[in-house]
Amino acid sequence: MNVASELPSEFDFSRVVCDLMTVGMVVVDRRFSIVIWSRFMELNSGVRAEHLVGKNLFDAFPELNRNWLEKKIKSSLVLKTTSFSSWQQRPYLFRFKPANAEMGEADFMHQNASIYPVYDSSGAVQGACIAIQDVSDLAEAKVMLDNTMEQALSLEESSHRDALTGVYNRRFFDEQITREILNARRYNWPMVVAMIDVDHFKRINDSFGHPGGDEVLRRLGALLGGMLRSSDTLSRYGGEEFALILSHIDRMAAPGLLERLRVAVERMVIDLPDGRQTQITISMGAAQLQDGQAPGQLVSRADEALYAAKHGGRNRIEFSLEPVAVKV
Ligand code: GH3
Ligand code: MG
Ligand code: MG
Repeated sequence: MNVASELPSEFDFSRVVCDLMTVGMVVVDRRFSIVIWSRFMELNSGVRAEHLVGKNLFDAFPELNRNWLEKKIKSSLVLKTTSFSSWQQRPYLFRFKPANAEMGEADFMHQNASIYPVYDSSGAVQGACIAIQDVSDLAEAKVMLDNTMEQALSLEESSHRDALTGVYNRRFFDEQITREILNARRYNWPMVVAMIDVDHFKRINDSFGHPGGDEVLRRLGALLGGMLRSSDTLSRYGGEEFALILSHIDRMAAPGLLERLRVAVERMVIDLPDGRQTQITISMGAAQLQDGQAPGQLVSRADEALYAAKHGGRNRIEFSLEPVAVKV
């Protein structure tokens, strides 16, 4: 249906379209010569229609993506199809300054574009129209929203992290152990908590000062964190003590994993800020979640096992003794 033909003859529809300030119109003929250059296009390009009509579109605007646009115009001319280009795929067709230059962060106008066939009164395709819509406000709002969301996410993430070592902090551990226990109960998964404490850490501080001790804690956090699965949670529990939540793992499998951590720590050579080097060992106490156990009880049992590891000579792992199942 041809809308223009239904308008009373005294309406000059093409003038209305050409003066639209929210949409730009460019009509080209079969040889890509410019036939119509609307008011929006004049104001944003700074070139008046009288200087462009009759000229080749691609000669006049070398910034146009010729390969892509030529193909789209040809498919409008030959196949009578309409194409759409979103600013998210292609930020602009014509490189115009944004209308609100002082507000916008981008140095060009974001554009959506449609390309469709233009017919003559006999129904034959004579050219193609490129309609340009300024969507800079939309693009800017999207960028601001993305930035805000990124900031919120990184704030949330950093509030869970220990500032010195980058591993999770005590607050996150307290929340996570509750979540993990609920999941372990719901799905009947095994779960182990291990408390890890640096042996004779006071000596490290005494020998290398607090900055040396801090570096040791950073290196320890990085080493342990790098050896764990993403489903495990390593937190700095306090001072030189770390807590580890191992889900989907039981009393039988956990010692092998913890032993690998112990050996890796023992072998690690730590370069200190003053140029010296040192080595450390860790003691570990572990406990497997028992039926009906609260987070605090599980941590207490792991702590008791850690105490036993210290008293047993350090640089070792102790597992909390499980209550003996009584068979009747
Ligand atoms: P043990 O083998 O029995 O665990 O001996 P230890 O010396 O490690 O024992 P203790 O827990 O008494 O000492 C821990 C020391 O860790 C005391 C404290 O000054 C130090 N410390 C705690 N937090 C930090 C920290 O953030 N940085 C540094 N450099 N030292 C810390
Ligand atoms: Mg210690
Ligand atoms: Mg300690």
